[in-house]
Amino acid sequence: MLPKPDTNPKIQYTQIFINNEWVNSVSGKTFPTINPCNEETICEVQEGDRADVNKAVAAAKEAFKLGSPWRTMDASQRGRLLNRLADLIERDRHYLACLETLDNGKPYHISYNTDLHLVINCYRYYAGWTDKNHGKVIPVDGNFFSYTRHEPVGICGQIIPWNFPLLMQAWKLGPALACGNVVVMKPAEQTPLTALYIAQLTKEAGFPPGVVNMIPGYGPTAGAAISEHMDIDKVCFTGSTEIGHVIMQAAGKSNLKRVSLEMGGKSPNIIFADANLDDAVETAHNGLFFNHGQCCCAGSRIFVEESIYDEFVKRSVARAQKKAVGNPWDDGCEQGPQVDAEQFAKIQGLIESGKQEGADLLCGGGRWGDKGYFIEPTVFANVTDNMRIATEEIFGPVQQIMKFKTVDEAIERANKTCYGLAAAVITNDLNKAIIVSNGVRAGTIWVNCYNVFSAMTPFGGYKMSGQGRELGEYALEGYTEVKCVITKIPEKNS
Ligand code: NAD
Repeated sequence: MLPKPDTNPKIQYTQIFINNEWVNSVSGKTFPTINPCNEETICEVQEGDRADVNKAVAAAKEAFKLGSPWRTMDASQRGRLLNRLADLIERDRHYLACLETLDNGKPYHISYNTDLHLVINCYRYYAGWTDKNHGKVIPVDGNFFSYTRHEPVGICGQIIPWNFPLLMQAWKLGPALACGNVVVMKPAEQTPLTALYIAQLTKEAGFPPGVVNMIPGYGPTAGAAISEHMDIDKVCFTGSTEIGHVIMQAAGKSNLKRVSLEMGGKSPNIIFADANLDDAVETAHNGLFFNHGQCCCAGSRIFVEESIYDEFVKRSVARAQKKAVGNPWDDGCEQGPQVDAEQFAKIQGLIESGKQEGADLLCGGGRWGDKGYFIEPTVFANVTDNMRIATEEIFGPVQQIMKFKTVDEAIERANKTCYGLAAAVITNDLNKAIIVSNGVRAGTIWVNCYNVFSAMTPFGGYKMSGQGRELGEYALEGYTEVKCVITKIPEKNS
């Protein structure tokens, strides 16, 4: 049951969260967060910068000291705290869904049913891991006793994007806290509000001071201060590949902190002629248009087998033209505004490039309405592999449909990209499904489906789409240091 939305949720937290306290920025500066539906300021938020990051790191360091409440806490108790956090998010699910829609523009029913559902599951999943991420006793040669300990990495800097503000926060906080780390997080400047509210819930759940610190602010200032910091042990980033380069260089130039990155994509979706056409059209449509195209894994290169190409294009255009764009508070809304003016302009520029490079613009292409960052659902056909719309991440509601003849050709063209985040294959032929799944170099392959996410399955990229994996058991590796202890003993017995 979807409760009625509160389209004007009260904003409760706009400060910086350090050591379980709310404080103003050292500089005294603030920045506006904008409602993408009407381009008006929702509120001013304290703008964190280097000095605030330094304060947060000092608090995190104290929280991570040997003998601290966090370091001496039973692992199972960490799990209880994470479950309590999930309970509090469930209690405030309606409020959080409203706040997410206000700040980000995604349809309220999706915030409530999809984002919040995945967020709660993610925290609960990692609550279960806290006392199960353990080392081994190793049968070492000689008279020695040897075992490994799985220890937290330490102070984790986490920098998150605006496309799934609450979910990206959960993907980062869940495994980091499960493994016993402390966190200094910077939410995206476009969408800081729900991240700040969750910070307050971590305090209410009982996480000790300094374990979770939240610094709203901009990338080149607060974000850079995190990635360059000499006392931060690991930086974990989701966002553009361009900034991924910057983060990795900053880590290299400072203290060689561990780096994990989840970045862009240009994911192929390969559709064979034997597929059920209506299902394939709908799967490809949702694979691209979900979240207004603002998904790192969006299926933005759709390769369709020659014999069904024309019919596939015709039905895809009809589907896009039916898409309900508009007020994200309406129950039937499928697509709200893009997140900000910068994204809006970037998408418009890429649409223009598609027209100029000779792709067929079959629907959309323009602004929807006269205020807010809405873009009409857009479909391009007869797209060739070298066009900008076929190579660059658009991150908007713009679908590219290409034609292929053979399986080998489809795989080769699918792999002709610097990215490797996700891919899909749609077919009823098991052999084709397996050949494509094995041949395409990407971290996730969906077969006859798209955008299926769960906390249990790993997510991350090959090539320039990423380093490391989030979610599932695999995410624990990124937040764990393995220590080997070797002890001399008088005699060993098998
Ligand atoms: P971005 O990479 O600039 O921002 C992502 C996060 O990184 C934000 O929190 C931002 O403040 C921070 N950041 C920016 N510059 C930084 C720096 N120098 N040091 C440290 N942190 C920094 O992404 P964007 O400008 O919001 O969007 C640009 C493009 O990135 C989009 O069009 C899209 O293609 C891609 N993107 C991908 C994802 C994803 O989930 N992989 C998410 C958002 C955007």
